[in-house]
Amino acid sequence: MNIEFLGGAREIGRSAVLINDSLLLDYGLETSTPLQYPLGEVDPEAIVVSHGHLDHSGAVPSLLTGDSRPPIHWTAPTRALALTLAEDTLKLHGNTLQCPFTETHVRRMTQVSETHPYGESFTAAGHRVTLFNAGHIPGSAHILVDDGETKLLYTGDFKPAKHADERGNPADDEEVNGTDQPMGQRLVDGSTARPEADVVITESTYADVTHRERSAVEQQFVERAKTTLWEGGTVIVPVFAIGRAQELLLVCESAGIDCYLDGMAKEVTQLLRQYPSFVKDADALQRATSNARFVTGRDGQRKRIARKNTVILTTAGMLGGGPVVSYIPEIRQNPTNKIALTGYQVDGTPGRELLDTGRAEFDGRVLPVSAQVEQYNFSAHADREGLGQFLTSYRGSTILVNHGDNCTGFAKRLRENGFDAQAPELATAIVV
Ligand SMILES: [Zn+2]
Repeated sequence: MNIEFLGGAREIGRSAVLINDSLLLDYGLETSTPLQYPLGEVDPEAIVVSHGHLDHSGAVPSLLTGDSRPPIHWTAPTRALALTLAEDTLKLHGNTLQCPFTETHVRRMTQVSETHPYGESFTAAGHRVTLFNAGHIPGSAHILVDDGETKLLYTGDFKPAKHADERGNPADDEEVNGTDQPMGQRLVDGSTARPEADVVITESTYADVTHRERSAVEQQFVERAKTTLWEGGTVIVPVFAIGRAQELLLVCESAGIDCYLDGMAKEVTQLLRQYPSFVKDADALQRATSNARFVTGRDGQRKRIARKNTVILTTAGMLGGGPVVSYIPEIRQNPTNKIALTGYQVDGTPGRELLDTGRAEFDGRVLPVSAQVEQYNFSAHADREGLGQFLTSYRGSTILVNHGDNCTGFAKRLRENGFDAQAPELATAIVV
């Protein structure tokens, strides 16, 4: 098997791996300025997409700009999310040199799309392919590829079920440390499938980090949000539209916190409700959605809400645009108010700037923020222990580490622990 890394090798963003010159796994977009696409011209016979985040699916429409019409294989939610993201990319960057595709190419995605449930094998570019729940966001998949000689498992982004044993049988997730808090995510079940594989390409986003217990993170978020509300303040919760927004809706509903929902998160929440079999508890998501008031943004509504004693979940998660940019100037001067960041803040984003300096640029103006700024790790990725536990099922396999800031360090640690592991460089091909 020939494995070529066109993106996502020793980096996060624009994931793309080409198998045997014919089968493409993921084709993502890195949202830096300018946008970055996977390397080279590629003309695959078929594409399989692991999940509907921009850095895994965002560049897919650009594969349909020429004469070829390769089928795109994915789960139904991934298809829907990828289409939504493509429309959004067109809104932000359409008709510029940065965006090599148009509405026509996005429409073509629907013509070549083939959706698959988890666990049912299909043929793509002559390979036998099977998708398994990856526990990252609704519809996210581990991709198992068999070319007749070699079995490859591409993890995609994933979060394992807690306490899964080596064969992948999950322990009872519901009662942990004497609390009733589920330890995994509220939105999706953790990954438990550990299909046999000769080669594993594993993500390593949090290979150097141990996440705090989810129940403790939730509890702290809830207690501090309630404190701000008691004190008469407003809590702005910047969220990523896909996954994080719905997770926080579920947290708010379960804690009895009323909230508003704004930005692209509204559209994605409604979209995900159409795929109840891909979420952990569709009734809970229904309740959580009803618990939130959707902001229309009409007639100065945002200004009014920002003065209320309430919680507002809104995109963008790193404060780089979206309605959050209109809320922060309204609430920033009062130290009773709070901005509760719910995810990783990439260097160079206003969210990172705010955390580091207490000020950031919003809509072209640098503003100091007196409101409290807090950060919570609601990660949807495996951490150091989760990756270690997952890989114990693949002791005899070749491990290729990608999708991380320290891929070489993690590969080295794996080798020290007896694994056959390496971190391929961008633009290299590995033959196994
Ligand atoms: Zn992802």
